[in-house]
Amino acid sequence: MTTLSRSIALLCSLVALALSLAGSPARAEEVAASAVPVASNAIAPVTDAWRAALPQDPEAATQAYLARLSPQARARSDAYFEGGYRLSLWNVLLTLAISWVLLQTRPAQAARRWCERLGKRRFVQVLAYGAFFVLASWLLSLPLTIYQGFVREHAYGMATQTFAAWFGEQLMSLGVALLIGPLFVLALYTVIRRFPRHWWLGATVVAMGFMVALLMLAPVYIEPLFNTYKPLADTPVKQSILAMAHANGVPASNVYEFDASRQTTRVSANVSGLWGTASVRLNDNLLHKSSDPEILAVVGHEIGHFAMNHIAVSLVEFGLVIAAALAFVAWASTALSSRYGERWQLASVQDVGSLPLLAAVFSVVMLFATPVTNTITRTMEVEADLYGLNLAREPDGEAEALLKLVEYRKAEPGPLEEMVFFDHPSAHTRIYNAMRWKAQMQPKP
Ligand SMILES: [Zn+2]
Repeated sequence: MTTLSRSIALLCSLVALALSLAGSPARAEEVAASAVPVASNAIAPVTDAWRAALPQDPEAATQAYLARLSPQARARSDAYFEGGYRLSLWNVLLTLAISWVLLQTRPAQAARRWCERLGKRRFVQVLAYGAFFVLASWLLSLPLTIYQGFVREHAYGMATQTFAAWFGEQLMSLGVALLIGPLFVLALYTVIRRFPRHWWLGATVVAMGFMVALLMLAPVYIEPLFNTYKPLADTPVKQSILAMAHANGVPASNVYEFDASRQTTRVSANVSGLWGTASVRLNDNLLHKSSDPEILAVVGHEIGHFAMNHIAVSLVEFGLVIAAALAFVAWASTALSSRYGERWQLASVQDVGSLPLLAAVFSVVMLFATPVTNTITRTMEVEADLYGLNLAREPDGEAEALLKLVEYRKAEPGPLEEMVFFDHPSAHTRIYNAMRWKAQMQPKP
């Protein structure tokens, strides 16, 4: 069900550069071996007879499904998800604080000068400062990363790793960021120097180029660092899954399962990659904790993403958002650097030392753009849900699977709250869509 979001998180983190090295939030989900999967225990079990007796009216049927969640599970889910709203604000505030430290403090300015003395070639200096920026941001954001990615996930019973295993993965993410980040910074500042007046256009092209490369390479070179991807194991549903995939133009060799249970108890699946590397990936929690109709409903949804080319579509849509954001960054950073440049020992935006300034402005703009970016992904999720219903024809399997996702996503937000904060629709919206489909396509006799 979840899906593009990891790729998009990866993309945004690359462009937002820095800061995010701490890695995609998805990466940080961890699971304690001893953790009790609270939410799945908290869903009242039912029989086929219960499903057959559900009211025809979509809203009434949706409420019957949601009523199976215990009040404790609902409260816990609300607290977890709403805590995320505050965390996204804290993350931006932290980015601003880190940028201030890197621009204004003496040790950071000394480090910048040290990078500038490193080698005669400018590109060496830019690469060195890029690496310094990645490393310093990672270190300074480490306390929040630990809280967000380890402590909090354990507190909610969704993490399965020990601290050592989790931290090992953080170090691997840092290694990847140190490899890619400085190259991105070099490309960015090459464009800024070459086109000082309209560099935001060139920077958008650079960002898109990196995103495409990352989308293509991540499934092959990055994600296998963290999880093992292998062909689907032999199970009764395997043939149905592969038949649905084949029928929709997804080669069987592009359907994988992976050991997400290494890190988390969450049930999910995704579509990742681009062109030759695109594939449907089902996490082992989904395969082990779900009934056949649930699995087929989820697979139908993922095949929908694949068939509708959602990764390519989101690239274009996010590209437009990023272009607008960078245009603002170009204007604001020029204004800020001419006002405070002396204090920051910054000659102009063309100086690679302006990197923390660009990152700070970009992170604020992207925070304000959250309702737009979330609406882009949420819209595609609704499309994939409808595609999946038409394909798998398992509205009740879909509704059951969605109840499980309430573990980490608030079930019934207000309309404005859903628009602003939800990158996937809420369980209420999605179950309602499934029940509406069922009422029209599988009416009771
Ligand atoms: Zn999806």
